[in-house]
Amino acid sequence: MTGSKLETFKHTDLKIEVTKDRKPLLPENELVFGKHFTDHMITIEYTSESGWSQPVIKPYGKLELEPCATVFHYGFECFEGMKAYRDAEGHVRLFRPEMNMDRLNKSSSRLGLPTFDPEELIKVIVEFLRIEDRWIPSKRGYSLYLRPTMISTQPSLGVRAPSSALLFVIASPVGPYFATGFKAVSLLASTDYVRSWPQGTGDCKVGGNYAPCVKPQTIAAQQGYQQNLWLFGEDHKVTEAGTMNFFMLWKNADTGRPELITPPLNGLILPGVTRNSIIELVKSWEPETGIIMRETEVTMDEIIQAVAENRVLEMFGAGTACIVSPIKRIGFNGKDLDIPLDPSDPHSEAGPLTKKINDAIMDIQYGVVKHPFSRVVY
Ligand SMILES: *Cc1c(COP(=O)(O)O)cnc(C)c1O
Repeated sequence: MTGSKLETFKHTDLKIEVTKDRKPLLPENELVFGKHFTDHMITIEYTSESGWSQPVIKPYGKLELEPCATVFHYGFECFEGMKAYRDAEGHVRLFRPEMNMDRLNKSSSRLGLPTFDPEELIKVIVEFLRIEDRWIPSKRGYSLYLRPTMISTQPSLGVRAPSSALLFVIASPVGPYFATGFKAVSLLASTDYVRSWPQGTGDCKVGGNYAPCVKPQTIAAQQGYQQNLWLFGEDHKVTEAGTMNFFMLWKNADTGRPELITPPLNGLILPGVTRNSIIELVKSWEPETGIIMRETEVTMDEIIQAVAENRVLEMFGAGTACIVSPIKRIGFNGKDLDIPLDPSDPHSEAGPLTKKINDAIMDIQYGVVKHPFSRVVY
């Protein structure tokens, strides 16, 4: 978008069309991620000629698009993943929603799609949540997953900044990622494929990043690994774990002190809301835990050496879906590297820091602990 003034829609223009047939709620044990959606959706249209139109909440339903719409041809699509949580008092909360909005704007503008005022979309989402309130589960670990999405609807095959776009939000009730306790994952570190590269779009949540990762993931699955560990460069720098940010607790080789490390935001890394939150929490805990939080690049050779010297203590991926997902094994160049889980408990599949981070973030999300990361919306 060009021009100095921020073009945006306004929540005060919101039009609401309530459905006549509300779907039955699903039993909590049948909540499968992203399979069932609520009764309504948000849609907001944009054209380069007239800007944004009024936001609309209407019954969940099919989109009608021209087959020539450039979303189908050139991948003009970006999205967000965030959750609405219900606290013990029945209030509904969002976790740092402004970060999701800012990231959607960043992804959108990277694709030549329009941007908007973050607080306006948050206010529309809050109205949507009030309408869908019965879909927001109340048990800890359960939530309503929100999927804001922006696509190009431009009805012509020209490769250019889309002349029309659609912003929509759909919602799916979800249960806990680890329903029966943590399950650590095995990762195949791939040297045949990369997820991201410098000056690319690895730091944006654009649809085009994900489809190409499915074939490597299928290959990993055939070899008995759940996901890929994404590497970059001749020296095999670790970037991300599947669609999660990568974290490792280790003892620094030089200082001997425990550090939680994660790769820096160098363009190869998706700037996760969970990642940022973990960094802030672990920094604030340093006086108590003695663990230093450090954003630094780390190579496979360094990890192999640290494992051999018993300096690796914990490893996990982090993201909205799971909060943390412990890692127990990395396959690399035909060899398996075993990562410790919890030395004090052979039955546990997550280390003490991994668990502490998970519990702290959950306590904030569900309002057990008062924290600025959690926004009570009603
Ligand atoms: C969404 C995503 C993450 C995690 O981001 P959160 O904001 O914490 O959910 C990490 N890596 C990739 C590739 C992602 O798409």
